[in-house]
Amino acid sequence: MTTDILFERVAFIGFGLIGSSLARVIKRDGLARHIVASARTQQTLDTALRLGIADSVATDPAEAVRDADLVVICTPVSTYGVIAKQIAANLAPGAIITDVGSVKTSVIKAVTPHLPDGVHFVPGHPIAGTENSGPESGFDTLFENHWFLITPPPGTDPVAIERVAELWRRAGSNIEVMDSVHHDHVLAITSHVPHLIAYAIVGTATDLEDHLKSEVIKYSAGGFRDFTRIAASDPVMWRDVFLNNREAVLEMLGRLSEDLSGLQRAIRVGDGETLERLFTRTQEIRRGVVEAGQHIAPAPKDEDG
Ligand code: NAP
Repeated sequence: MTTDILFERVAFIGFGLIGSSLARVIKRDGLARHIVASARTQQTLDTALRLGIADSVATDPAEAVRDADLVVICTPVSTYGVIAKQIAANLAPGAIITDVGSVKTSVIKAVTPHLPDGVHFVPGHPIAGTENSGPESGFDTLFENHWFLITPPPGTDPVAIERVAELWRRAGSNIEVMDSVHHDHVLAITSHVPHLIAYAIVGTATDLEDHLKSEVIKYSAGGFRDFTRIAASDPVMWRDVFLNNREAVLEMLGRLSEDLSGLQRAIRVGDGETLERLFTRTQEIRRGVVEAGQHIAPAPKDEDG
């Protein structure tokens, strides 16, 4: 297995769904000699050791990164600035810092000023996830056939980018490199606004009078059910996404509101043609998603069928 080793010592700061899933890949394929996990709570660290997906643990992130040649930040994005400041002095020369945050421009702004010369920051985002959190919810096939987007600031060392890309290729991901502002715009409409809609519609249903509310749950298979799954996603992670991708989300929400008003009008005036035209176009989009193989929600292989 020696030839498969990509990194000597990988430090995870944050060890929930995403961090523990990547650690499972590294352990499974022997991609690092040592994995150290850091998290807020002792419970998460105990779980990491019990599951055998970390070799050692540290509550202090600064302790965790000592001698690591790869540091992977996997916490909610609002914590990044504080974490970067905490770990900066202990980063080994030449170390690569990467992350998995769902927003990229604000992450780069928060982390970069703290990093010493000679370490390489390679921001990234796996476009894969579930509504579950914590180290026990992770699984090693989470990233298979999903994109890993890398958003390096200009001047990032190409060797560091390639080393991070190779790690994610081993996790089964396809790699794309793009500008962070572009990333945040695309993700605003493909991920962030859909989550907001799910939170909103489940919130609206929750506020209905009691007799209606119970019927919403009883007959949820009519469409509501799919929104409840998305709206069960981690509240802190998603709070941070909206606070850190404000402009792009607001821009996409503005466009959506206009389109919704158009649909509202079409329904009011009985304009079936407009409705049918849109619904036909959206069927095409779904076909494109299926053809691109992006229609299956990630799930652990042994629970998948
Ligand atoms: P998660 O399962 O909730 O895990 C978060 C981890 O961060 C936990 O280990 C937690 O420690 C730690 N943490 C939380 N607050 C912290 C703080 N203030 N200081 C230090 N550690 C802290 O979250 P996740 O789903 O893996 O998400 C992690 C990152 O991945 C987020 O930035 C998110 O935007 C991104 N992401 C998520 C998804 C998704 O679908 N979930 C997809 C792509 C990217 P404890 O366990 O000890 O509380």
